[in-house]
Amino acid sequence: MDFKKYITIVEDYPKEGIRFKDITTLMQDGEAYRAAINEMAEFAKEKKADVIVGPEARGFVVGCPIAYALGAGFVPVRKPGKLPREVISQDYGLEYGKDQLTLHVDSIQKGQRVVIADDLLATGGTIEATIKMVEQLGGEVVGVAFMIELTYLEGRNRLKEYDLFSLMSYS
Ligand code: IMP
Repeated sequence: MDFKKYITIVEDYPKEGIRFKDITTLMQDGEAYRAAINEMAEFAKEKKADVIVGPEARGFVVGCPIAYALGAGFVPVRKPGKLPREVISQDYGLEYGKDQLTLHVDSIQKGQRVVIADDLLATGGTIEATIKMVEQLGGEVVGVAFMIELTYLEGRNRLKEYDLFSLMSYS
């Protein structure tokens, strides 16, 4: 399937000069959404994932249906103050300043095979922070999967040690 046909490019969003890749037009098409998730789920299945981890919010849109397709668990990564129980946290760099992600301390068991899923790989900062937390809890990151990869931001270089799957790439 030509998935790119379902992605809408929004010029100058959220600020001037950015060409935002909007996946909502893919999600709203039942056949395209299912086909996209099926391909990502196939990757996670090959990796024998026990659990799928996804950062909020679009990582849920992608990660939850993959987990469901595999009969695997889903673990949410969230911004500070959103998870109700004890968390570990990780700072990560943004273009200006920094932000933080959190994960419940009991969400990953030692030795569990983890696939991390998100809608889009840009600089790789979000996923790098997520990987650090999963590994801190003893999980084995066996793969990272994205709908979209922005190859010109070279996020892949930060994730060299990991098997990376992307459904579409923009250069
Ligand atoms: P990174 O940490 O630089 O790799 O940024 C990835 C995060 O930014 C992902 O969680 C995306 O949801 C979000 N993001 C960055 N650019 C876009 C875009 O063009 N469309 C949708 N999400 C984006």
